[in-house]
Formats: sequence, structure tokens, C-alpha cells
Amino acid sequence: MLRKQMYINGEWVPARSGATVNIINPFDQSVIAEVPEGGREDAQVAIAAARDAFDNGPWPHLPAAERGEAVRRLADLIARDREELARLESLDTGKTVEESRWDMDDIAGIFRYYAGLADKDEGEVIASPVPDTTSVVVREPIGVCGQISPWNYPLLQAAWKLAPALAAGCTVIMKPSEITPLTAVKCVELCEEAGIPPGVVNLVLGPGSKVGAELSENLDVDLISFTGGIVTGKRIIQAASSNVKKMALELGGKNPNLVFDDCDFDLAVDYALNGVFFHAGQICSAGTRLMVQEGIHDRFVAALKERIDKIKLGNGFDEGTQMGPVISKEHLENVSNYVEIARGEGATVLCGGKRPDDPALADGFFYEPTLIADCRHEMRIVQEEHFGPIITVEKFSTEEEVVRLANDTVYGLSAGFWTRDPDRIHRVSKALRFGTVWVNDFNVYFVQAPWGGYKQSGLGRELGKMGLEEYQEVKHIYQNHATQEIGWFGK
Ligand code: NAD
Repeated sequence: MLRKQMYINGEWVPARSGATVNIINPFDQSVIAEVPEGGREDAQVAIAAARDAFDNGPWPHLPAAERGEAVRRLADLIARDREELARLESLDTGKTVEESRWDMDDIAGIFRYYAGLADKDEGEVIASPVPDTTSVVVREPIGVCGQISPWNYPLLQAAWKLAPALAAGCTVIMKPSEITPLTAVKCVELCEEAGIPPGVVNLVLGPGSKVGAELSENLDVDLISFTGGIVTGKRIIQAASSNVKKMALELGGKNPNLVFDDCDFDLAVDYALNGVFFHAGQICSAGTRLMVQEGIHDRFVAALKERIDKIKLGNGFDEGTQMGPVISKEHLENVSNYVEIARGEGATVLCGGKRPDDPALADGFFYEPTLIADCRHEMRIVQEEHFGPIITVEKFSTEEEVVRLANDTVYGLSAGFWTRDPDRIHRVSKALRFGTVWVNDFNVYFVQAPWGGYKQSGLGRELGKMGLEEYQEVKHIYQNHATQEIGWFGK
């Protein structure tokens, strides 16, 4: 069993209260680690350290190329320790180790991208309308950043925040989910090895209601970056009003996948499955809401069922496992409740819809991959984010109808559609109100392109150049080279 600590001002420390908490493997509920359970006081000490490192330390003032070098060293260390990180991520989350390896490759790439971007900002010279003056716009680090991340992609989501913040010259307090802290701890060990100065990266472990709430409220935090659910996001918006913090919010999604009659049928089936069942559906951009045109609907549903019946559940470390458990007992109940709600609303559960019978899986938080047909768009299973291995299917007739229904949601994170008609591609990609729209693909993201949501799916964008700009203030500097007397007052 691992025993880990928090990292504040360059020191590995326990919680001030001495409290600890066990971290559980969702595959079999075994205890994999014991970590400190921090509280508000720990967060306050970490915020003070980050404040001091920003106000008085070297980091924000280093030449940007030097900061980029440090971030690049971190990328190299992540690549070096890829296997250890991937195994920790799978122990913590239950996802297959192969998926975790892909995550680690992405993460190293994210740090590399922002390392490269760190010294590419050339500012801007404005054509000043006043003679003999210069007017320039510069970007500066925003300051002390609280970074709160969720349990589904623990290190990936943390990296989306940490890499641009470091490249911009900010100082950081990381707060990973209390149930999946292990890769964040390892990443901070690597920050130390990469030579990032004390106080620049701090790590506080503990519950959102204490550590996360302190980061959101505290007057010394300049920006709060949060990835998680809408309900928590709304609490953070209120808390952050204390000092009008800058906010970057990546909230949930309920992502429609529209399949038109003229699509490539086999590819659309294949990607509909990939869009949902990775990490047991616990992906903010999962295409859990499938909408299929009437001409191919029945055949499409039958093809899905045939493949879903063969999905192999198991230990993420075993060769051949395609899907692991969900994250926790509470979440398993949540997922299971949603299926009961769908049954109650008149939908038809075609496969899954229960825990697996296999005794080898009895100790884990497993739920069978589930296909629910005969769904209507007003049903809760269609409108709400269940975050489980469930795909719902609605039948539609026309393009106009499906676009209207797909947009009729409070979420706006991502959507995809399948068609071979070029005019329809143009129309539908314009009409869908989502931050990312995939055409003849699903669930693709990369660090070069911005990621974020319309509507209640969030505020701001992560990744890409916009992801760096979230961590920068913009300053206009105006200089008069031939200042003349004005002589207006009292002359
Ligand atoms: P959550 O909102 O319960 O928790 C997220 C984080 O917020 C955790 O670290 C938690 O400790 C913290 N937190 C909880 N209460 C808090 C409070 N009052 N103040 C401050 N912080 C608090 O979400 P989760 O269950 O960990 O993650 C699942 C959710 O995350 C889903 O809704 C999913 O869609 C969303 N998500 C979104 C994206 C995206 O890119 N938009 C990516 C991944 C996950």
C-alpha cells in the first residue's frame, strides 16, 4: 500500500489535522493508498505559499523560454514514467491500463505543446491615434490559480490546467478529486524533479466542500479553473464572486450523436460504441444520446446490440478487458437509478440494465453496458448526464427535427453526426450549438484545438492557444514621447 503526502511550498507534508483517508481500487475495493485528508487550513497555507511565489519569487519573471524549458523537462519525465503513471491511473479509476497509457501519451504531449507555446507571444503594437506615442499590448501571468479536477481523467484534466498555467508564469494550487489523487501526487514529484521552484506548484488533497471551497472563496486566489459537474460549477461561480476571480469552467455534457440514413453504416455503428463505452461511459463528451434516422433505425439498433452483448468486462490490468467498473459504490447506484427511471418512463432496455452475474466481478463497481431504445427527447435518461455505460436511442425523421431536438438541452459540450451529404454537413455543423462538432467521427480531441462548452457546459476554453490565454491578463501600455501641457483646469 502506498503512503503519500501533500506538497506545499516545496515540502511534502501531512494534513495539519493529521487526518488521512484510504484510496480504493474500484475493481475490487482493495485499499491501494493512504493519503492526507486536508482541509481549509491546509488550503490557506498553500494559497499563501503560491501568493508569495507569485509576488516575490522568480517564476513569473523568468524569460518565457526558460519556463518553457522547465515545462519540457516535465513532459520528458512524464514520458519516462509513463508506465508507472498509467498503472497508478488504472488502480485509481478502474479503467483499462491501455486507456491509461493513451492518456499518459496525451499528457506528455500537452506539456510539450505548452512548453513550445511559452515563448511564442510577441505582444501587439497598436496604431496609436495620438502623435508621438507608443501603444503596446502585452500578456502577463494572471497570478495565483486554484485548479480543481475530477476523477474520470484525473491527470489528463489536471494537465490541461497545469501545463498552460506554468507556461504563462502563474503559480498553482492543485486540488485533484479526493477519490483519485495518486497520479497528481506523482506528477508533482516530477515537477520537483524538473526543477520547478518551491511554491510554484502546490498540491492539497481533501474534499471539495473544504479544500475546493477555500480555493474558490479565498481572496488571494486570482483564477479558479474547475472541471466537474454543473451543480458544483454553479457553487464555484457563487464562491468566486468574493473577489471577482477569473473563472475557467469545464462542466458536464450530454452529447448527441446523429446518424443519418445516408451514413457509412458500419463505421457509424463502430464509432457509436467507441463514443460511449470507453472508461465505462464516464467521459464528459460521451455520445450517450444516439439519434438514428428512421430508415436505418431498427437495423442500427440490432447491430449495436450484437456488439454490446460481446463487450468484455474485467480487471483493467487483464489482457482482453474492454471495460472496467464505474468509479464508486455511490456512482454505481446513480447509474443503476437512471436505468430504473428510464424503465419507468417507458423506454425499453435491450441489453444490460443490471450488474453482471459473474462472481469474479462481484466485489467491483461493475455495471453491464446498457442499450436503451424507444427513448423520447424529454426523458430524464436522455436529458441528464448519467455518466455511465448507457447508450440511449431516439428515432427521428427529418434533419430539421433532429437538429432542433439535439439542441434542446442545457448542455453544449460536444456533438457528432454521420452523413455522406456535403450540403448537409455544412448545414448541420453550423446549426448544432456545441463547443465541438465531429463530422463522421466521435470523441476526438487534441491539444492544438480549443475545448469547452456552449450554454451550461462551461465558461472559457482549455487547450490550444486559448487554453494559454485563460492564464494571462492583457495589459495596454501607452507612452507619450512628447507630452504637452493641457492647461484646462484653473488657468
Ligand atoms: P464533481 O463536480 O463532483 O467534482 C469535481 C471536483 O470538484 C472534485 O475535485 C471535487 O472534490 C470538487 N468539489 C466538489 N464540491 C466542491 C465545492 N463545493 N467547491 C469546490 N470544489 C468542489 O465532479 P466529478 O464527479 O468529480 O466529475 C464528473 C463531472 O465532471 C461530470 O459532470 C463530467 O461531465 C465533468 N467533466 C467535464 C469535463 C469537461 O471537459 N467539460 C471533463 C471531465 C469531467
